[in-house]
Amino acid sequence: MDHKKTRLRLPLCQEVVLPFNLLHVTPPMSPPPCLRRCSELVNEEGYLDVDHQTLRSRQYCNVFGIGDCLATPNSKTAAAVAHQSSIVEQNLYSVMVGEEPTAKYNGYGACPILTSYKTGILAEFLYNKCPHETFPFDQVRHYATTFYLIISTRHNYF
Ligand SMILES: Cc1cc2nc3c(=O)[nH]c(=O)nc-3n(C[C@H](O)[C@H](O)[C@H](O)COP(=O)(O)OP(=O)(O)OC[C@H]3O[C@@H](n4cnc5c(N)ncnc54)[C@H](O)[C@@H]3O)c2cc1C
Repeated sequence: MDHKKTRLRLPLCQEVVLPFNLLHVTPPMSPPPCLRRCSELVNEEGYLDVDHQTLRSRQYCNVFGIGDCLATPNSKTAAAVAHQSSIVEQNLYSVMVGEEPTAKYNGYGACPILTSYKTGILAEFLYNKCPHETFPFDQVRHYATTFYLIISTRHNYF
């Protein structure tokens, strides 16, 4: 690989050389084996099969899911998990008092991106991929504040 182009091996062993100026490599991901083995709870890929809004299992009305293991089409981020936790808390409470779950997860996720050694942006979006900015400034612009927000949470990952 040089700094202008990369060689990628695709499924079926094809190789392609692509030019790039920003390269984001995503390794293969999968749910944990203990969940994959619960065939009555998961979809074909082994992710927990839940209603995309209530996060309740489609098979068992007293099972709820949260996090990266869900078969929901949101970005798998800790920001999404934080949002889901409030939905699951409300819906668990409803079910425990004999009511239907009414709280709805909208697919919120957030992706912090460093854009230089002193700036960053925080992309926030919903299931439909529409931007969903929650800060009181234009999040398309690069800010030092966002840079410090991002690096202050990096110790969780690196
Ligand atoms: C490098 C990196 C950078 C990231 N940066 C960001 C970021 O900047 N912002 C952001 O919002 N998100 C970020 N994420 C995503 C975020 O980390 C995940 O979305 C989040 O951790 C998912 O939480 P979770 O609880 O669903 O799963 P996990 O955090 O994966 O927790 C699952 C836990 O279950 C445990 N476990 C597995 N099998 C078993 C078993 N059989 N018995 C008991 N325990 C078991 C695992 O050990 C693990 O501790 C990043 C992820 C990575 C890898």
